[in-house]
Amino acid sequence: MYTSFHRIDLPRTIVVGGGVLDKAGGYVAGVAQRGSYVLVVSGPTVSSKYFERLRASLEAEGLTVGLKIIRDATVETAEEVAREALESRIEVVAGLGGGKSIDVAKYASKRAGSVFVSIPTVASHDGITSPFSSLKGFDKPISRPAKAPEAIIIDVDVIAEAPRRYNIAGFGDLIGKYTAVLDWRLAHKLRLEYYGEYAASLALLSAKHVSQYAEEIALGTREGYRVLLEALVSSGVSMCIAGSTRPASGSEHLFAHALHIVARNKPLHGEAVGVGTIMMAYLHGKNWRRIRGLLKTVGAPTNAKELGVEDDEVVEALTIAARIRPERYTILGEKGLTREAAEALARKTGVI
Ligand code: ZN
Repeated sequence: MYTSFHRIDLPRTIVVGGGVLDKAGGYVAGVAQRGSYVLVVSGPTVSSKYFERLRASLEAEGLTVGLKIIRDATVETAEEVAREALESRIEVVAGLGGGKSIDVAKYASKRAGSVFVSIPTVASHDGITSPFSSLKGFDKPISRPAKAPEAIIIDVDVIAEAPRRYNIAGFGDLIGKYTAVLDWRLAHKLRLEYYGEYAASLALLSAKHVSQYAEEIALGTREGYRVLLEALVSSGVSMCIAGSTRPASGSEHLFAHALHIVARNKPLHGEAVGVGTIMMAYLHGKNWRRIRGLLKTVGAPTNAKELGVEDDEVVEALTIAARIRPERYTILGEKGLTREAAEALARKTGVI
C-alpha cells in the first residue's frame, strides 16, 4: 500500500478585475452559507476608503456584516478576532487591506474554523493569496500555517489607487521566486528534502511572468497590475500545493527577514526580497545582473541606499540570515556567511 499522502487546500474562487469590489457580495455568497455573518477585518485608513462599498455589496446578497478595525498584526490581535468570531458565530472572516489585515484575518479564520476571504487593496507581497500568516509575537519573523483563502477578490482599480511603491514591492517579492526555487532544489539534493516539481514550476512561472511584463508594470497600467496580481495569486497557490512556503521563500527571504530585524529604517518586505535576490542569484552562479536590470526597469530598489538602510546593516543581515530559520536549507549553508564574505558579496553585486 502506498501510505504517503499530501493534502492540498486551494482557493475556490479567484476574481481579478476592474470594479469587482462592488460585486464582492456575490462572490462571498458563493463560498458561504445563506445569510452568513461576515466579519471584515481592516485597518483604519483602508476601511474608511472601501468598507462602505464592500458592506453594501455584501448586504445586497443578504449577508450580515460586521467590521473589526485593527491597528497591528500581532498574535494577540488575531486571537482577539478569533474569539469574537467564535462568540458571535461568524461564518466568514474577510481581510480587507494590505499585509496586516489579511494576515490577521487568515490566522483568526484558522483559529475560529471560519471561512477566510482575501480582499487585498495593495499588491505588495504574495501573503495576500498564500495559506500562511506572518504575525508579530511568533517566536521568529517567519510565517506560520494559517488558512487558504476560500475566495480571493482583487479589484484592479483599487490596487491602482495604492501607493506605487507598495505595488512595485510586489514585483520584488515575485522576482525572489527565481532563487527560492534554486534553494529548494539544492535542499532536495543535499538534504533529501521533499521537492515538488509542480509547485516549483508554478512559483517560477510567476517570476517569469512578471519579468516578461516588467515594462508594463513599470508604467503602472491596469494591464501591468493585472499581470502582477495574477502572478501573486499563482505564487500563493504554489504554496497551497507545496503545503509550505518553500517554493516562494528561500535565501532571499532569509536576508529580507534578517534585514527587517537589524535595520533601523525598515524597507518594505518585497523591496528587501528583490535586493536579496540579486545577491543570492550571484551565490547560485546565476545571472544576477539580469535580476538587477529587471528591478531597475520597474523602479524598485537595487542597493542599500535605495532601500534606505546602512551598508553595515546589509552586511549584518547577510551574516545572520542563515540562522533565522536553520531548518530551511539554502545556498547560505548552515552557518551562513562570514562577515568578510558577506561584505565581498554585497560589494561585488553593487548593493553596498
Ligand atoms: Zn515574500
